[in-house]
Amino acid sequence: MEPATVGVVGLGTMGIGIVQVFAAAGYRVLATDSHAPARDSALDRIAAALASRVAAGKLTEAERAETLARVQLVENPGQMGEAELAIEAVVEDLTAKQAIFAALERVMAPDAVLASNTSSLSIAALAKGLVRPERLLGLHFFNPAPAMRLVELVPHSGTSDPALQKVRALMHPAGKTLIDSPDCPGFIVNRCARPFYGEALALLEEGRTATEVDAAMLTAGYRMGPFSLIDLVGADINLAATEGLNRAMGGHPRYHVFAALRAQVASGNLGRKTGRGFVFPDPPASPPSDATAIVLRIEATLANEAGWLLAEGGVQREGIDTAMKLGLNLPRGPFECLRAHGTATILAELERLERLAPAHLRGRYLPAPELDAA
Ligand code: NAD
Repeated sequence: MEPATVGVVGLGTMGIGIVQVFAAAGYRVLATDSHAPARDSALDRIAAALASRVAAGKLTEAERAETLARVQLVENPGQMGEAELAIEAVVEDLTAKQAIFAALERVMAPDAVLASNTSSLSIAALAKGLVRPERLLGLHFFNPAPAMRLVELVPHSGTSDPALQKVRALMHPAGKTLIDSPDCPGFIVNRCARPFYGEALALLEEGRTATEVDAAMLTAGYRMGPFSLIDLVGADINLAATEGLNRAMGGHPRYHVFAALRAQVASGNLGRKTGRGFVFPDPPASPPSDATAIVLRIEATLANEAGWLLAEGGVQREGIDTAMKLGLNLPRGPFECLRAHGTATILAELERLERLAPAHLRGRYLPAPELDAA
């Protein structure tokens, strides 16, 4: 049987990685980008990414050649009629993405699936205006797509079961872990990660140092502290994600945008990419004497955010735990933290934080209804 064909629109950071994922899984991949140089350089970029896998002994030279041979560049989405699944990874703009889906819909088979890699747009909004909105869903890959196992699968309320079944079957050979996510701002990971950074910034606001907060988290098995993670991804990217969620959640204090984060971005010390960040390139410090209290505080707020998301429905506890471990490289998920500390301890910590909260954070620590039931 001929291998299925997958289409990828947009060959930037994410799209090129998604092409590699499907080509490596044995699919024929049709790939396009509106920017000609992005199309012209696509095969070279994938070849370079695969070369490092060959050098590491994870791929043979022959496999690399076969993978590249499965990728075919086309000029526009109108040439993706054979694709059973088409994923867009273009600029984060509703109108641009809707125009691509409209073009894909005109040429693809009625049972073919359309997917968006959007990080922040509503899947329901993307589906509006389509002739067959029921075959659209979100497939949220993480960066770098070939290396990150997690993909959030995001149906909107009208996505059909056959579309979901089809995408699950097509994703299976790619070896990814698909986690069902509700169509809500930030999906699972970008939303439930907010307290990891936010509570660290709250501690900074109270006079603690970034190095001691990070050192405290390392004692509890975290591979990176919150500030090192901000430095890795970039304070500007973190600020944009926080502001986006803050807007989408009506400015709720759980998504407070801390002045220290804005100041860091304004200073230009964005992290690794600029050579200096909150902690980068300083060596790790020794943990403070109250490391356990810092860990409890951050884990209590992580568990609480997960509890609020759970209360909104469309997601499972295990799904949130797995997504957070794979997406953020955390040693345990928020509900695992809840179980490890005990619900009473987490609730007492949230109550303490709420009692002491300054005016701009009041309401931030109110406990989720799901915490008691966990
Ligand atoms: P990018 O800027 O690196 O790449 C976007 C590509 O899309 C560019 O090559 C551009 O030429 C092309 N493009 C723009 N408009 C187009 C159009 N109308 N038709 C065809 N091609 C078009 O962006 P990115 O970081 O790869 O992000 C792409 C999508 O993935 C966004 O929706 C983003 O929210 C999402 N995403 C990004 C990350 C990340 O870490 N970068 C992670 C997960 C999801």
